Amino acid sequence: MVTNVVTGKTKICGLIGDPIEHTVSPAMHNAAFKALGLDFLYLPFQVKSADLGKAVGGLRALNITGVNVTIPHKVAVIPLLDALDPLAERIGAVNTIVNKEGQLTGSNTDAEGFIKALQEHGVAPKDKNTIVLGAGGAARAAAYALAGQGARLTILNRRLELDWARTLARKLEKDFPQKVRVLELDEKNLEKALGEAELLVNATSVGMSPNREATPVPARLLRGGLTVFDIVYNPIKTRLLAEAEAAGARTIGGVEMLVWQGALAFEKWTGQKAPLDLMRREAVKALEGYED
Ligand code: NAP
Repeated sequence: MVTNVVTGKTKICGLIGDPIEHTVSPAMHNAAFKALGLDFLYLPFQVKSADLGKAVGGLRALNITGVNVTIPHKVAVIPLLDALDPLAERIGAVNTIVNKEGQLTGSNTDAEGFIKALQEHGVAPKDKNTIVLGAGGAARAAAYALAGQGARLTILNRRLELDWARTLARKLEKDFPQKVRVLELDEKNLEKALGEAELLVNATSVGMSPNREATPVPARLLRGGLTVFDIVYNPIKTRLLAEAEAAGARTIGGVEMLVWQGALAFEKWTGQKAPLDLMRREAVKALEGYED
C-alpha cells in the first residue's frame, strides 16, 4: 500500500506496460520517494498497444513527471516522443521518459543499469570474451552496454529468430570497432563458445517464472572462472544462477540490474541520488511476495 501523502503539488511518475500486475517498480520507487521526503508518487498504468498514442498524449496533458516503459512498448513508443538520448537512439528502445514542460525525452537506463550492476560486482568487460543469450529488447540493451565497454561479443539466439541477432550484430559492428559473432543457440555452439568465455549473460526470458525449471545452459557446461549474469529477476535465484553457483562460477542476479535501472530513472525524475540499498530491499521484498 502506498503511504505517501498525496497533495495538489505531488509529482506523478509511473510505469506504462501490459501486463503490469507483477511489477515491483511502485514498491521500489514509492519507498525511495518517502525515504527522501520527496512529494512524488509512482503508479502503474496498464496500457494496451492500441492505446499507446493516447497514453503518451496523456503524459503531456496530465503533466506526468516521468514514466518507465516496459513490454510491449519499449520500441513502439519512440516515434511518439520529442527527443531521445543518444544511447536510447542507438539501442532503438526506451525504458524511461522524462517530461520537461511537455517535451518528452526517452532514455534507456536498462543498458546503464546493466553496466552498473557488473561494475558493482567488480567485473570489467573490456576485452573479455562475452556471450549474450538472446536478441530481444533486454539483450539489445546489454549488448550495446557491453560493446561500449570493449567486450568481445558472441550472441546466441534460437534459430527461429537468428536474423534478429544478425541485425543486432551488424548494428554493433557499425557503432563499435569489435567484430561480433552470431551463433544459433544450441548445446554444441554453447559448449564451443563457453570454452573461451569469461562472461555469460542470459538476456532471454528462459527460466522466468512460472517456467522456473527451465534453463538456457546445461549445468555440465558451467564452471569456475566464469561470471554468469542472469538478467531474469523473477525468481530471484533462477535455475541458471543456482547451477552456476554450484559449479563455482561467480553469479550476478537480475535484481541488481532491475534496481540500478530504477535508480537511474529515479535520478532523472527527481534530480536526487537514489537510495540504492533501500530500493534493493523493497524490490526483493516485493519479489518474494510474488514467489509465495
Ligand atoms: P523479449 O524482447 O521478448 O526477448 C526475449 C528473448 O528471449 C528473445 O531473444 C527470445 O528469442 C528469447 N527466448 C524466449 N524464449 C526462448 C526459448 N525457449 N529458448 C531460447 N530463447 C528464448 O523480452 P526482453 O524484454 O528482452 O526480456 C527478456 C528477459 O529479461 C525477461 O525475463 C525480462 O523480465 C528480463 N529483463 C530484466 C531486466 C532487469 O532489469 N533485470 C530488464 C529488462 C528485462 P527469440 O528472438 O528467438 O524469440
